[in-house]
Amino acid sequence: MAFALALYGWALGMLDMTLVQFAVVGLLVMVMVFVMHVAIRTGWTERFRDPSLTLPHILAATFVTLYVIGHADQARPILLMLFVVAGFFGVFQLRKDQYIFVALVAVFGFAMIILGEIVGTEDVERRSLLLLELGVFTVVMFWIAFIGSYVAALRRKLSQHNRDLEVASGHLQHLAQHDELTGLPNRRELIARLQLAHATAEAGDQTFSVAVLDLDHFKQVNDRYGHQAGDEVLTAFSRRVRDVLRGGDQVMRIDDSLPEIGRFGGEEFLAILPGTDLEGARLAAERLRQTVAEKPFETAAGTIDCTVSIGLAEYRPGEPVHHTVGRADEALYRAKTGGRNRIVTATDS
Ligand code: GH3
Ligand code: MG
Ligand code: MG
Repeated sequence: MAFALALYGWALGMLDMTLVQFAVVGLLVMVMVFVMHVAIRTGWTERFRDPSLTLPHILAATFVTLYVIGHADQARPILLMLFVVAGFFGVFQLRKDQYIFVALVAVFGFAMIILGEIVGTEDVERRSLLLLELGVFTVVMFWIAFIGSYVAALRRKLSQHNRDLEVASGHLQHLAQHDELTGLPNRRELIARLQLAHATAEAGDQTFSVAVLDLDHFKQVNDRYGHQAGDEVLTAFSRRVRDVLRGGDQVMRIDDSLPEIGRFGGEEFLAILPGTDLEGARLAAERLRQTVAEKPFETAAGTIDCTVSIGLAEYRPGEPVHHTVGRADEALYRAKTGGRNRIVTATDS
């Protein structure tokens, strides 16, 4: 648009430039715009701290405008407004020192033009007018630099603030979904995932199983070694069973969705096994039981032997998901009464 205006001014004879001069400047501007555009669009400028290259943009615009203004006569005061257009581009990025640098360049260039004219005229009134022009231009340019950099700083602060908020809300979301002690998904998250597994099973005609795990005689662990040691066992237990569950057991990876284990409450855990039938679940549970029983847990209060009882249930098409969990819970109860450190499946309960 600025170029179109300059062309209009030139056609009216208000610019002291030959056709060739004008064409060269016009071409230069177009090439510059094109090169900048390509450099930004292709991502080449991503390597710079300011990928939109605000400072080079503004400086280029300043030099071109100075050149055109240097060749304008009566049209100059009105063409000066183009500096405002170029200057405001900086509110997106420029720091205060960069903005002041731009203002200094523009004012210095413009002062050269004005001084050239003052030297060339004897008219005192004309000289005063030229000085007034320079004074107003200087004030406007520095005003833009200060206000512009203030707005740019506000923008930066705001986007930093938004980034901080994003990080904080991600952190909060993690806290809301995970158990503090073990880092596993908490009860709330488990229920959400159960509902997801349920919905997937309903929609895709595929099954899933749940396993309820409860540590055996855990009260005794607390009584004998202290609550702190109990906490350590829970944490180590969680890590162990999660690693085994995620450890590439083919039976447990029938479907794309991964099995998940979380803390259902206290020393009770719940595993969701997507795409897994009762037989697959039994194999998985056996591995979990073994991994707990075969190696004691090392804690600050000593080495603690621990076992786990597991109740299993496979989803029955049409049943609410809490029924599946309820049947697994009942199977767990039978595993406890049956002697602990064992797996019971809810086939015909
Ligand atoms: P059972 O074999 O029948 O399951 O016996 P149990 O002693 O494990 O009995 P129960 O499951 O009823 O007891 C759970 C115990 O787990 C009671 C509680 O003190 C302990 N517990 C629950 N949550 C925590 C915890 O976060 N840290 C510790 N240290 N202990 C916990
Ligand atoms: Mg227990
Ligand atoms: Mg319990």
